[in-house]
Amino acid sequence: MTRNGTAPDLILLNGNICTLDNQKPKAEAIAVKTGRIMAVGESDAIDALAGQQTERIVLDGRLVIPGLMDSHFHFYDWAMGRQQLDLARVDSLDELLDEVAQTAEQLPQEKWILGQGWNESDWPEHIMPRRDHLDAVAPAHPVALWRCDLHLVSVNSRALELAGIDETTPDPPDGIIEKDSSGHPTGILRELAPNLIKAVIAAPEIDVVVGAMQDGITHLHSLGLTALHDVRLMGGLEGAPALKAWQLLNEKDKLDLRCWVSLAGERLEEAIALGLRTGLGDDRLHIGHLKYFADGGMGARTAWMLEPYLDAEYGMPLGSIDELRQKIGAAEKSGLAVIVHAIGDRTNREVITVLEQLAELRHRTEAQSSIAPALSHRIEHAQMIRSEDIQRLAGLKVAACVQPHNMILDINMIEESVGPLGRYTYAYKEMIDAGIPVLFSSDAPVCDPSPLVGIHAAVTRQRRDGTPAGGWYPEQRISVADALRGYTTVPAAFYGQTRNMGSLTPGKWADMVVLDRDIFQVDPMEIADTRVKMTIFDGRIVYQSDD
Ligand SMILES: [Zn+2]
Repeated sequence: MTRNGTAPDLILLNGNICTLDNQKPKAEAIAVKTGRIMAVGESDAIDALAGQQTERIVLDGRLVIPGLMDSHFHFYDWAMGRQQLDLARVDSLDELLDEVAQTAEQLPQEKWILGQGWNESDWPEHIMPRRDHLDAVAPAHPVALWRCDLHLVSVNSRALELAGIDETTPDPPDGIIEKDSSGHPTGILRELAPNLIKAVIAAPEIDVVVGAMQDGITHLHSLGLTALHDVRLMGGLEGAPALKAWQLLNEKDKLDLRCWVSLAGERLEEAIALGLRTGLGDDRLHIGHLKYFADGGMGARTAWMLEPYLDAEYGMPLGSIDELRQKIGAAEKSGLAVIVHAIGDRTNREVITVLEQLAELRHRTEAQSSIAPALSHRIEHAQMIRSEDIQRLAGLKVAACVQPHNMILDINMIEESVGPLGRYTYAYKEMIDAGIPVLFSSDAPVCDPSPLVGIHAAVTRQRRDGTPAGGWYPEQRISVADALRGYTTVPAAFYGQTRNMGSLTPGKWADMVVLDRDIFQVDPMEIADTRVKMTIFDGRIVYQSDD
């Protein structure tokens, strides 16, 4: 790729470059060669480096930031879901049923009607779609509609029949088949019970998966994303096809993304037996962490709490904490790091205790610890966490991966479920101030995949319409710079890639994003409207907006 002798392949001039490099935080221009940043500086000096074949882009003062990383993204679900019904935009149960009815008219009867993204807490009826509702509009097709948190699926009678679920079916481990007072399944399946449905939906062909994922990567570029951690939920049904598709894309040189791929926690023994370690991979594709669930979600009242919900009991842990300790211990000894889903304040407290105990053990047996994982463990969501536990987490140097846009979607639900204890949820400022590495993410398809929507949420703690005025628990608002670090420098450090990514520094990968406005200067409410003008990955322009 040295088509240009010693001259750069590409230079960007007259920009407003926010490097996030403390040595040189601001610059006007940047030169790129063979996928790496060659120089950063004044426009005249950079222009002087250009050769005959150097491509020149004049930025007219636009803001350039490092390529963004989303550290928790269900890429397979999201990419495949882009081919299904998008129910996130639906404003009522009636509207959802209309969508299903319309799809049923167009689709052959043996085909599944699949959808995701509905959230009944934002609807006037506050009622989840149940089998009766769905049977009324689609009696012949099997229907499965995932709630926005992906912890709950709503299905009709035909789907229950295909999955062999009836009044005699017991709850699977860590899942709930909701039943009415006469013992009949209502069509609502919670936590891991939706896997009974997934198991009977025919897996798509690998070519379909590769195509959907490639299409998804193109969309990510339009959002400014150049790196991502694909957090997958299941080891068998989607784990293998997704990991294979990632490898195929990489092999064909079509993986224009720095990607870490989780392994499902249930595959611990196989991963150990195969000698897999967190970090295995190349510049594009890496094996990430094993993913565990310690509880459910507050929307479904299955997150485990220190105090009861206003309208339910304490929730519950998913599986025993002792078992979780053993699994993390075994993973760690084999060089595998873990990410643990923890929502409720009780769960966060217990998981931190487990991590403290393991750190203590590690400390005592340091002589044999050379096989410890190359990356550290982390807590996923840390959605409701008490101040004393934030301090304990900071002491452990364990990261927290959080989802700012989820906060905006959850305001009503949190108020309904825990009232004033909501002050312990989404405590980003407190976590960052305590020194916890806080990684930002979307949890797409749970939330909007745009990092700019996430930055807006973290900075304003307001919905796009400006409510609640002044921000929800405004003491937890953070600066634009801190929010941006959650998508750049913090993940670079967490993934052991400060040499290659996070800032616009000579020698690092040339992954960067040009925005249509300066997010540091505009009214923070405008940040969510910010558009990506151009995305550069590995020194190549991979996205350019039309206007
Ligand atoms: Zn998730």
